Amino acid sequence: MLLSELISETKHLDLETITPDAITIHNNRPLEMAVEIMKDHKVNQIMLLDENEQYAGTLTKTDINRYCSTLSEKEQLEISYENLPSCRAIEAKFRDAKATYNMLGIAFCEIITLGNEQIIRWLNAEAMFTFGVSIDDPISKMLTQERWEHLMNIFDMQGGVEHERIEVRGRIYEVTLMEVELLGQRILKLFLYDVSELVRLGDELRLSLERTIEHIAHYDVLTDLPNRLLLVANLDHAISHPKRQNDKVAILNLNIDHFKDINESYGYAVGDKVVLQVAKKLGKTLGREDTLARVGGDEFIILLEGLEDALDSEEVIKKIQTLFYDVLMAEGIEFKLSASVGIALYPDDGKNSEALLKNADIALRRAKDEGGNNYCFFSSEMSVQLFERVLLERELRRAVDESEFLVYYQPQVELISGKLIGAEALVRWKHPVMGLVSPDVFIHICESNSLIIPIGERVLMDACTQVKLWKEQGLYRGRISVNVSGKQFERPDVVQTIKAIVDETKLDPRYLELEITESVLMGNPTEFGAKLIELKAMGIEVAIDDFGTGYSSLSYLKQFPIDKLKIDQSFVMGIPNNEQDMAIVKAVIAMSNALGFRTIAEGIEKEEQALFLKNLGCEQGQGYLYSRPLSAEKFEEFLKALV
Ligand code: C2E
Ligand code: MG
Ligand code: MG
Repeated sequence: MLLSELISETKHLDLETITPDAITIHNNRPLEMAVEIMKDHKVNQIMLLDENEQYAGTLTKTDINRYCSTLSEKEQLEISYENLPSCRAIEAKFRDAKATYNMLGIAFCEIITLGNEQIIRWLNAEAMFTFGVSIDDPISKMLTQERWEHLMNIFDMQGGVEHERIEVRGRIYEVTLMEVELLGQRILKLFLYDVSELVRLGDELRLSLERTIEHIAHYDVLTDLPNRLLLVANLDHAISHPKRQNDKVAILNLNIDHFKDINESYGYAVGDKVVLQVAKKLGKTLGREDTLARVGGDEFIILLEGLEDALDSEEVIKKIQTLFYDVLMAEGIEFKLSASVGIALYPDDGKNSEALLKNADIALRRAKDEGGNNYCFFSSEMSVQLFERVLLERELRRAVDESEFLVYYQPQVELISGKLIGAEALVRWKHPVMGLVSPDVFIHICESNSLIIPIGERVLMDACTQVKLWKEQGLYRGRISVNVSGKQFERPDVVQTIKAIVDETKLDPRYLELEITESVLMGNPTEFGAKLIELKAMGIEVAIDDFGTGYSSLSYLKQFPIDKLKIDQSFVMGIPNNEQDMAIVKAVIAMSNALGFRTIAEGIEKEEQALFLKNLGCEQGQGYLYSRPLSAEKFEEFLKALV
C-alpha cells in the first residue's frame, strides 16, 4: 500500500507553510515506512511530497487507523514497526570537496545538502528517515571543516576507510567514509548504519554477562544456593550488624551421612540429584532471613541470625532432622538418608567468621564420629581433642617413615585338644616416648587417612617372613592370620599386592589366612566376593572377623568362599552370665557348622567359656586363657617350649 493511494483528499498547502522541522516523506513510499517514522519521532502526522517535491497531503494517525481497521489482524501486524529492518545503509556522493557538499542517496537522488559551515542546509524525507535527523541536527558533527580536511588528506595520500560513531537524538549511527572510483570519477561514499539496536543489545549482553559472572562468583552452580564466599560475607555482616544487642548468630554445618557411598554406588549424576533435593527441602524449612549455603559436595552451611539463645538453633535442627524421616527418591531410586550437624555460636564459640566456621566443622566431625544422624554443639574441649588427634596423625606419618610398627602373635588353639593350630598377627606401635601403643588407639585414624595401607602391607610382609622362618626351623606348623582393613580391601590391586608379598616371602599361601570384618565384606559384596574368589584360587584362606557385630546377608555368606567365622569377643565375654550373648553364640556356631565353615571364638579368658564353646561344637579358640599376644621373640620361646 503506497501512501499516495491512502490519501484521497489532498488539501493543497504552500510549501512555505511547512515548518523546517516538519516531517516529510515522498508519497510513493510504503505505508510501513510512514508508520515507522511516526513511531520513531513520536508524531501524529506526516506531510507527503509528490515526485516534484510538492506538498501532496497530510497523513495522520487517524488515516492509518482507519485503513488498518479494514485489514485482518495478521496484515495489521505486518505493518508494525518490528517487521522493518533496524539497520539501513545509505550511499551518498560527495560532489565538491572544497565548496558545497551535496550528498547523493541511493539512486543518486540528492538527500542532504551541507553548507561550508557543515550545517545541514536541506534534507529530504529519505535522509530524515535514514538519518533520523532534522535540519538543525548536528549530523555534520563528524564532518567539521577540520575533520573533513584531515579526511581529505588521508584519502589523497593513501585512500582508505574511516569509521566513526555519532549519536543523534538518542540513536547511534555508525558512519563509514570510503573512497571509491565511480564512472571514472573519484568519489567518496558515506555509509550510515543505524546501530542503536546493536549497541543496546551489546550493552544488555555486557550487563547480563556481568550479572552472570557476579552470580557465578557468589552462588553454587548445582543448587543456585549461596556459596562459601557469599556465606562468609553474610556472616561478617551478621556479626558486625546485629539486629538487637546480645543477639546470637549460629552456624550449622550439615553433612549428609554416608553420601560418599551414594556417589560411589550410583554415580555422581544421582549424587547431584540427591543433593538438589536435600537443598530444596532445607530451603523450604528455613526462614527467609536465614542463609542456606552449599560449600562442597554434600556440605551445607546454615546461618541463623537474631537468636536469643542456643535453644533457638536446636529447634531448627530438630525441624531439619524430621526432613530426613521421609524416603527421598532420585532417578527412581529410594534413599533413606540422615544428616549430621555441627553447631558453633557467635559470640561464645568464635569472634569472627573464620573461627566460627572452623569450630562448626569440629563439632560436625564429632557428630559424625558418634555415628551420624546426630547433632553436636561445639565445646572448647573438642578443639583440644582435635589438636591431639592432629598431633597423633603427624606422629603416625613419622612412625610409618621410621618403621616403628611391630607384629605381635597371639596363639590360636584347637579347643578339644588345646593344641596350637595357628596365630593371629596383631600390630603394635612402638613409640619412642609413649612406648607400646595398642591398635585400638591408632587403627581407626590410619583408616581415615589411608596410612593403614602401608602399615597393613608391612604387617603382612613381616608376618609372612617370620612364619616362613619358623617353619624352616621346624618350630611352627599352623597358619598365620593377618587382618586386612576395608581400606586395603577396596583397593583394585589388593589381590596383586598380597600375591606379590606371598611370592616374595615364599610362604606357602595355604598357611596364610586373611581376616576381613563382616561389615567390610557386606559393604560391596559383589566386588569383594570376586576378590575373595581370586585369593581362594591362590590357596589363601579367608576368615570373617568380629562376626555378629555387623549385618550379614546369609545368602552372601553362603556364596562367598569363606573358610572360617570368628565369633566376636563381645559375645564370648557374656558367657556364662548373659543369656542373650550365649544364645547368639549358640546360633552362630550352629549356623557356621551347617554352612561348613570352621568356627573360632576370640576373647576366651575363662575355662568355663572354653567349655561352653567346646560343648556347642566350636572348633577353635583364641584368648588370654591360652596366651596374650606375644612379641616375635616371646612367641618363639612359646613355640620352643612346645617342642
Ligand atoms: P581383632 O582382629 O578382633 O583382634 C583381636 C583383639 O582382641 C586383639 O586386640 C587381641 O589382643 C584382643 N584379645 C585377644 N584375646 C583377648 C582376650 O582374651 N580378652 C580381651 N579382652 N581381648 C583379647 P588388639 O591387638 O588390641 O587389636 C585390636 C584390633 O585392632 C583388632 O581386632 C583388629 O581389628 C585391629 N588390628 C590389629 N592389628 C591389625 C592389623 O595388622 N591390621 C588391621 N587392619 N587391623 C589390625
Ligand atoms: Mg582379627
Ligand atoms: Mg576380632
